Amino acid sequence: MIKVEDLHKSFGKLEVLKGITTTIKQGEVVAIIGPSGSGKSTFLRCLNLLEEPTKGRIWIGNEEITDKKTNIMEVRQHVGMVFQHFHLFPHMTVLENVTYAPIKVKGMAKAEAEAKGIELLKKVGLEQKADEYPSRLSGGQKQRVAIARALAMSPDVMLFDEPTSALDPEMVKEVLEVMKSLAHTGMTMAIVTHEMGFAREVADRVLFLDGGQLIEDAPPQQFFASPKSKRAQEFLEKML
Ligand code: ADP
Ligand code: MG
Repeated sequence: MIKVEDLHKSFGKLEVLKGITTTIKQGEVVAIIGPSGSGKSTFLRCLNLLEEPTKGRIWIGNEEITDKKTNIMEVRQHVGMVFQHFHLFPHMTVLENVTYAPIKVKGMAKAEAEAKGIELLKKVGLEQKADEYPSRLSGGQKQRVAIARALAMSPDVMLFDEPTSALDPEMVKEVLEVMKSLAHTGMTMAIVTHEMGFAREVADRVLFLDGGQLIEDAPPQQFFASPKSKRAQEFLEKML
């Protein structure tokens, strides 16, 4: 579903991604972990062209998104993204947040978008908040709306950048539960996270990034039990 070949990204003189090569299969759930500043967010943002790679190639499905002819807006329709700080539209209700892109971008009829929106809000346990504004929701509720909003575009892939890092501890679980049930539907997911328990339980693979390089790529059982690199060992000692 996703193929990344020798991906480099620099900001000015700072080389943040130093040649990453990997693939993510359809239906796979991949946890991306690593120290702060290692390039995790930049990697994820390259996958939907929120950052333009300096070098290297990326395919989503059969389409090479790094091809100059690719329509970026079209790519983003197929790749949903959920951010640490939710990024909901504050002046729209929950339901409007969820229906906005399908109506505006896909030209879906309002009634259809709303029916689908309510369905998705049910899935994340928030249909009773459809007419509420984001400012009146808890962090966990906001993040669940953000997930529903991304799903409303029927993406092929979902990217999550530390979706629970801004949440109070008691709200982390409700968001992880929604992500876990999404994983069980067969959604292809790439998740930057510090939730090691979640990575171990839900991910099919762990990618460990350090210094802009992919240091390890292993199933969670293997990665957590016996990380090969010293850098991963040290990272895990600090985390666990
Ligand atoms: P992580 O998500 O692993 O913490 P990031 O991908 O956010 O790491 O950042 C990796 C490095 O790239 C950091 O040194 C960061 O300061 C730098 N960086 C990220 N985005 C930009 C940007 N837009 N301009 C300049 N430097 C950036
Ligand atoms: Mg980050």
